[in-house]
Amino acid sequence: MNLLLLGAPGSGKGTQAKRLAGMLGLIHVASGDLFRHHLDRFTELGRSVKIYMDRGDLVPDDLTIALVRERITQPDADGGVLFDGFPRTVDQARALGRLMEDLGREITGAIYLEVSDEVLIHRLAGRQICRLCQVPFHVEFNPFTTCPSGRCQGEYLYQRDDDNPQTVRARLATFHRQTAPVVDYYRDAGCQATVAGEGEMAAVAARMIEATRDLQHRRVALSQSA
Ligand code: AMP
Repeated sequence: MNLLLLGAPGSGKGTQAKRLAGMLGLIHVASGDLFRHHLDRFTELGRSVKIYMDRGDLVPDDLTIALVRERITQPDADGGVLFDGFPRTVDQARALGRLMEDLGREITGAIYLEVSDEVLIHRLAGRQICRLCQVPFHVEFNPFTTCPSGRCQGEYLYQRDDDNPQTVRARLATFHRQTAPVVDYYRDAGCQATVAGEGEMAAVAARMIEATRDLQHRRVALSQSA
């Protein structure tokens, strides 16, 4: 199975993707994490993508696609991938389609995690992430009490540079302009499901599982009719 998880920044993609990938035995490939890995290590790629990330813009498609290609051609991706935050443009979606075809793999479908802008802004303003475990918390909705990995006491919590109000507004505008059409792209292809991303985390997770089953059934029906 190869699933795509689409959603605006703050929609809960990262949290839900980790959970779902673990349950389904898929590797979790988050394009934002791939970029942050380079940023943190001051690599050449990290230096060239920083300017886009700081502005809340998308990194150019060629760099993004090359990085994702490198990750999913590693042997651990053979068993299936949960893509988180990729594709974010229609050109990326087309490139992913070609890449998967070259690799002899299929995209099962795309889940769009829908959250209102008002809720997204509130979530991002209070988001804190553990630098050690990458676990996200929220000062109000999910404050740090204990670390799920038991490796720290909250001393590694930080706010992402791009979670400041100005960059958040830019990232949301980018989402509506460039990524919303990706949702339509997969909807038109008949392999997209929308999940309401507001409410209790466990309830959202249950809706995601239901959407995954629905997409699997549709994929089977499509291949039987082909
Ligand atoms: P995220 O962690 O998914 O919120 O991504 C953080 C930032 O990384 C985004 O604001 C973009 O600058 C960049 N980025 C992540 N994924 C992509 C993508 N698929 N295409 C272009 N830029 C991306």
